[in-house]
Amino acid sequence: MSTKTVHVKNCLLGYGYASLIAYHKLLKTNNHEDILILRNENSTPIFSIEHEGTRFSPLPIFPVEESELYNSDLFDDVPKQDPISVSFSELTNFNYKDHSIEEGSLASFMLSNQGIDQRLCLGLKQWGDSMLSKPFSQVQDKIKRHYISKSGNTRIGYVNGKSIFKYAINKLNPEVLNYSNIQKIDIEKKEVHTNDYIIKYEKLISTIPFHYLLDLCGLKHNHNTDFASAYFYFFKYKTGFKENQVVYDCDFNSDILRVFSIKNDFLLAQLRSDKHGQIPVEKIRKRVQELAPTIEGLEFAQELFVPMCYPLELITEPSTLESIARLKENEVVPFGRFGEWGYSDLHELDWSNIF
Ligand SMILES: Cc1cc2nc3c(=O)[nH]c(=O)nc-3n(C[C@H](O)[C@H](O)[C@H](O)COP(=O)(O)OP(=O)(O)OC[C@H]3O[C@@H](n4cnc5c(N)ncnc54)[C@H](O)[C@@H]3O)c2cc1C
Repeated sequence: MSTKTVHVKNCLLGYGYASLIAYHKLLKTNNHEDILILRNENSTPIFSIEHEGTRFSPLPIFPVEESELYNSDLFDDVPKQDPISVSFSELTNFNYKDHSIEEGSLASFMLSNQGIDQRLCLGLKQWGDSMLSKPFSQVQDKIKRHYISKSGNTRIGYVNGKSIFKYAINKLNPEVLNYSNIQKIDIEKKEVHTNDYIIKYEKLISTIPFHYLLDLCGLKHNHNTDFASAYFYFFKYKTGFKENQVVYDCDFNSDILRVFSIKNDFLLAQLRSDKHGQIPVEKIRKRVQELAPTIEGLEFAQELFVPMCYPLELITEPSTLESIARLKENEVVPFGRFGEWGYSDLHELDWSNIF
């Protein structure tokens, strides 16, 4: 089959929330024909999953009420929702002195911050034992931004089981080109080569994992690409737990990190991802019942494992920094949590970078 050539002003590589919101923002100064999303048909974004005919957002992607993004026109026509309500179970079976904590590790950072002992218990469940020795510098950064600094961080919950980002982007009708494989990106010629197309762009905004982008561009990198996963069990129930309630489980012997009610009859339990495939459903069902004793008719629905969820270390390595500079010189903008390899939420991204 012959290769077709496409010309476009703004090419968005990746089809997640960051790309779709970028598409919406670019529409202010561009027409639909000026923007094209390239979507890998083999790696679908996890916007929602289906259970018995109903769609749910599996990831708790909650906008921040105080943020510029939430107050922008992206949310003009979106149903209003209240903030989530958060509670913590009693800290049990946990004493930080039982753990050998190395200087410079995420655990030692947490302990040096007042009142964070409970967070260390939750942190160990979320990040596993390596946080006792490794810095997890991205996580430290996120804690400073979100919890130690006093900037507003009120999280707006789901509407009818869906992230309200989902409602916001539903009104878009983006131009999307599916591809099965990218052969290379020629940053000097400003071309993306797929199996079937050559896309000639003026600007390339990439939300695919950063090291994959550098490989495609033939640029060097040697930074730490470790990432953490997320693991969920979903349960349906009849009554007894309100929509957008969140309970953090501070019993160190429990494999649950937190429980979210997605709807008045459906919830998710986020579990220790280092125990993927080893956690008995009945153990989790019983513990959810203890955490929310008013729940009636709790029944397992399905599980979900999402491998790449959180980048862990900051990029400080010289060859990667040099490659970032090369990308910038050539109108390539890495963007988003995986695109920039930064443990960020959507409201923290610098949207001015895409223009
Ligand atoms: C448990 C959990 C809770 C979260 N809570 C929040 C929150 O409250 N608020 C918030 O703003 N964010 C939250 N996030 C983060 C949220 O998931 C991201 O902000 C959002 O999904 C980022 O969108 P993105 O487009 O950058 O990435 P994604 O939606 O993951 O999109 C990346 C794109 O890259 C593509 N891709 C991946 N690998 C490849 C590959 N090898 N080749 C080609 N393409 C590839 C994907 O298919 C996708 O198109 C949370 C995440 C998790 C896991």
